[in-house]
Amino acid sequence: MFRFTTIKDYHTALQNGQTTCVEAVRFYIDNIHSNAHLNAFVEVFEDEALALAIQLDNTRKNNQSLAPLYGVVVGIKDVICYKGHRVSASSKILNNFTSVYNATATQHLLDAGAIIIGRQNCDEFAMGSSNENSTYGPVKNAADNNRVSGGSSGGSAVAVQANLCMISLGSDTGGSVRQPADFCGIIGLKPTYGRISRYGLIAYASSFDQIGIFASNIADAALVLQTIAGKDQFDSTASHQPVINYSEAVNQANKKFRIAYFKESIEHPGLDPVIKQQTEAKIQSMKDSGYVVEPVDFSLLAYVVPTYYVLTTAEASSNLSRFDGVRFGHRTEQKNIDLTQLYKASRSEGFGEEVKRRILLGTFVLSEGYFDAYFTKAQQVRQLLKTTTDQLFTQYDAIISPTVPSPAFKIGEKSNDPIEMFLADIYTVYPNLVGIPAISIPLFTHTNGMPFGLQIMTKHFDEATLLQLSQQLITLN
Ligand code: GLN
Repeated sequence: MFRFTTIKDYHTALQNGQTTCVEAVRFYIDNIHSNAHLNAFVEVFEDEALALAIQLDNTRKNNQSLAPLYGVVVGIKDVICYKGHRVSASSKILNNFTSVYNATATQHLLDAGAIIIGRQNCDEFAMGSSNENSTYGPVKNAADNNRVSGGSSGGSAVAVQANLCMISLGSDTGGSVRQPADFCGIIGLKPTYGRISRYGLIAYASSFDQIGIFASNIADAALVLQTIAGKDQFDSTASHQPVINYSEAVNQANKKFRIAYFKESIEHPGLDPVIKQQTEAKIQSMKDSGYVVEPVDFSLLAYVVPTYYVLTTAEASSNLSRFDGVRFGHRTEQKNIDLTQLYKASRSEGFGEEVKRRILLGTFVLSEGYFDAYFTKAQQVRQLLKTTTDQLFTQYDAIISPTVPSPAFKIGEKSNDPIEMFLADIYTVYPNLVGIPAISIPLFTHTNGMPFGLQIMTKHFDEATLLQLSQQLITLN
């Protein structure tokens, strides 16, 4: 039977004739069907994926060197455009909308030989922390079907967790890759803002959004990153910094890094005691094996969630104004109404409750009379966070924290309490506010049986250290 460990092993098996791309695709399609209850995929590109696999198998020559993602079976979150395929941001408003071009990340996947197997369920417009805000219904955590997958990229996380594909792409505005990765016991990488082009990623909050990677091991995350990262003529915020060979970098450093953790993160009253205890034990074992790990003060922690929600809702209210029932997606059936009424009715019918809440909040913080009190203030806090962060990285190579303050909660448990749900993002929104890369690595098991992770952050464009340290800590375990 087909068994996946790493892309490297898979390629070796292909070259030795021990497996085929068709065998891999069939394996994942069967798994997707037998795990349909998890609700991870909203559409499977079954025939197409098989056809590409057949083509790859028929044209492969002995001893041929394979393209970086040759035959790799990938799933993409339902916010990433794939030409000729539907994309809906898990929203009724984009029901039946078909992408007219490829996202740059999608194009890189295809150019590198990947097989895109389907699009994955998520919170509507990537707004949420539990995947309960999806027009397709919640995604179930494969470790306990009564619990949430996390969000917003819940389907992409569960797909890797439950062996429904080798790799997934998600998007991360405030934790949407790292938080579900934490809840599902897998790796979730959010690169530096601008490391991967956002062209073709449906926008939530443009100065925070970044495409991220779900993988079951660090080598695969590194390989996918170096394949899809880089400058892009279609996205002026995509960085021109050269993309290094992260795969090689992963195993290079033997250095014991200098690491900081925020006292306020570990002492936070909302932090689950088991997570606190296991994180502290990990810090101790890191010290024992020669790392410098030191507590630092970070009094700004109390402001990160409010700052994040002021700025992201402001950006969302502007980004989502294009969904007006005229140019995109759902249009009301109501007749004999004027243009304003058409906009109102189409948007009221098409958007879900959480999206409406955020558009309202964002419009409010941008409105005359409140702009300075909320939006300008939040921008100032963001600047302060950036200055403090730059300063910290002159002394440390990395910062660590829990990824999420609690393990995966029960479906329905927090859905009526938006504030409680927002607080789940306390550790993950900070890297997006300052643009630094961050990862969640699966190191722990809670006493309730659920997996959880450790978040690592490094300075801008230092994904090499991020991946090296991740690899070291996974091995140290
Ligand atoms: N949970 C956060 C939110 O609801 C993060 C979402 C994301 O990263 N897309 O905004």
